[in-house]
Amino acid sequence: MKKLTKEYEYGNCHTCGERMTERLVKQDFWIKGKLIVLDGVPAGVCPRCGERVVKSDVGRTVAELLTNQRRKRRSRTLNVPVILFEERVA
Ligand SMILES: [Zn+2]
Repeated sequence: MKKLTKEYEYGNCHTCGERMTERLVKQDFWIKGKLIVLDGVPAGVCPRCGERVVKSDVGRTVAELLTNQRRKRRSRTLNVPVILFEERVA
């Protein structure tokens, strides 16, 4: 596994101006109707509003991982609750 580059500067949040900090986050993707969750993705996260930014090379790695069959076979499956939106809550 590749080491994180600690020095990357994410700059300030474009929404609220707070300084972004690097965190490992979960990212979810819908691909052909299937939900795929990537865990441990390094991203700049705003501590105030939760805005996220991902470096361009991380974005490329994400795209590679999502198309890599070998990785997919080693993945685990999560059961996630799916709640249908309703106007009125009983
Ligand atoms: Zn923010």
